Order: sequence, then structure tokens, then C-alpha cells
Amino acid sequence: MEKISVVVPCYNEEKSLPLFYEAINKVSKKMKKIDFEFLFVNDGSSDNTLNICKKLAKKDKRVKYISFSRNFGKEAGIYAGLENSTGDYVTFMDADLQDPPELLIEMHRLIKEEGYDTVGTRRVTRKGEPPIRSFLTRCFYKIINKMSKVEMVDGARDYRLMTRQVVDSILSMKEYNRYSKGLFSFVGFNTKWLEYENVERVAGETKWSFWNLFMYAFEGIIAFSTAPLWIATFIGILFCIISFIAIVAIIIKTLCFGDPVGGWPSMVCIIFMVSGIQLFCIGIIGAYLSKTYLESKNRPIYIIKEKN
Ligand code: UDP
Ligand code: MG
Repeated sequence: MEKISVVVPCYNEEKSLPLFYEAINKVSKKMKKIDFEFLFVNDGSSDNTLNICKKLAKKDKRVKYISFSRNFGKEAGIYAGLENSTGDYVTFMDADLQDPPELLIEMHRLIKEEGYDTVGTRRVTRKGEPPIRSFLTRCFYKIINKMSKVEMVDGARDYRLMTRQVVDSILSMKEYNRYSKGLFSFVGFNTKWLEYENVERVAGETKWSFWNLFMYAFEGIIAFSTAPLWIATFIGILFCIISFIAIVAIIIKTLCFGDPVGGWPSMVCIIFMVSGIQLFCIGIIGAYLSKTYLESKNRPIYIIKEKN
């Protein structure tokens, strides 16, 4: 019998987890010919999430849980889920039911009957989200797709069903700074996109603050593009050309009209602008250097405290 592993990263999801289990259990009953494994990854929750996982595991043999020693972030949860999954197919779902479990039936059909390797999902609406957040997200996708060769789909969720072959290829990338959306596109394979309308959280609160999202976007760009590193070179060339023209103009002006020491305020402005740009470029190099530094330490992506 074929088996699907459902990986669910959970961070402080005591309110949504029981509702999620009910929903996925219903779907699993509809998919009679398939064996299931529910893999809850407790990402260092400070609430009752782990106890709920344990209770569910007692009640249902298909439930497995992994509990981290602290909060490692959703990306680590996804990686741990992939490493510990045993199914022929693996899917990720958020515990807050924002990823409709019923879609799984169609996803499985597409892989099975139409020969896709992976089926992803994307939200076509962003109902219930602040307009400024939606706007910035759209800008981010435009920018990153211009900068990176790997295509990032606007509105793509982490919710997807993959064959074992895809899972193994993702696991072969052992980088520490994981940006899963990019990694999924990087491995390629035949991907089908299912579209659905945004669903709001059943319970609890989102863990993403505005600042977190901003940093996440930044990580995505650093992880999948080296274009920012070229900014310094381009600005440098541009400034050399401008300064050459300016030098020639000033020499001619001084020879013709005299007055070599005017223009102190404009000089201060130029110094400020040039040093600002220099610091900006050093900052970009620093961002890449810090990622390289973290990679070179080879630290584990997650640490397990207990599991069943
Ligand atoms: N999550 C996690 N670790 C974290 C933050 C979030 O495992 O540090 C899980 C969370 O429990 C949920 C999923 O990742 O199942 C998505 O989180 P959330 O709903 O807050 O994100 P959003 O849907 O708002 O993008
Ligand atoms: Mg959510």
C-alpha cells in the first residue's frame, strides 16, 4: 500500500492542532487505498502543543511527533519532517488549516494519474491580509524573479505533495540557511500548481511580524541571487565616469575663470553620498559573508529533544 507522510510544523498551536487532526483524519478516511503517517514537528512551543501531540499519538498509531530542544524556525521543521518521513509521498501542511487538507485528494490524483512529480499550491487572493503586506509581497516576487535564475511563484505556499525522488533531492541540499520556496524550485521536476482562495487561520495567531517577513525576503534574495554583489561594481564604474567628466569640467572652468576654492557645501554633500554608498555596498558584502560564515560552521539545522 502507498503511504503519504503529512509533515506539520507546529509552534504554539495548541488551539489549532486538535482541529487540524480532525480535518486531516477526515481526509485520510476518504483516501481509503492509502496509508498515512502524520508527522508533527513541535518547534520548541511554549504552550501545550507537545502534550497534544503525545495524546494524539496514543490515540492514533499513525501519529509521530518530533520535539525540538528550542524554537528553530519553520524551515528547520520542514527539513526535520523530510528527514524523518517514511512515506512514498510527502506533504507539508500548516497546523492552522490555512492549507486546505481536502486538496490532498486532487494532488495525489495529479501525481498518480497525470505523471507530475510534485504538486504545489498557490493562493490567488490575499483576503484577510493587510493591503500593504500584499503590496510589498508582490514587489518582492517581482524583484527576486528578476535577480534570480530560480523561479519563485507569487503566492506559492509551502503546502505541496512530492514523490520520494523529489524529497531525496531536497534532502541532498544540506545548507544551513534554508529558503525552502527556492529549494523546491531549484530541484526542478514536473510541477503542477493548484490555485485556491486564501483561507484565514482557524485559531491562534500568525508568527510572522512585519520585520520577520522583511528579513525572510532578504534571506531569499541572498540565498538565491548574487546580483546584489554586483551593485558595488556598477555604482563604482558609474562614479568613475562621472568624476572623470567632472574633473575635466573643473580644470577647464578654473583655467578660464579662476576661483579654484568655491563649492564647500557641495563637497560635503558629495562626501556624504559617496561614503553612504560605500557603506551600503560593504553591508551587502557583509550579508553574504555572514551567510558564508554560518554555513562554514556546519551546525545542525535542528536538535531533537524527544520523539516517538
Ligand atoms: N511555525 C513553526 N515554527 C516557527 C513559526 C511557525 O513551526 O518558528 C509553523 C506554525 O506552527 C504553522 C506554520 O509554521 O503551522 C505557519 O506559520 P504561520 O501560520 O504563523 O504563518 P503564516 O501562515 O501566517 O504565513
Ligand atoms: Mg498560517
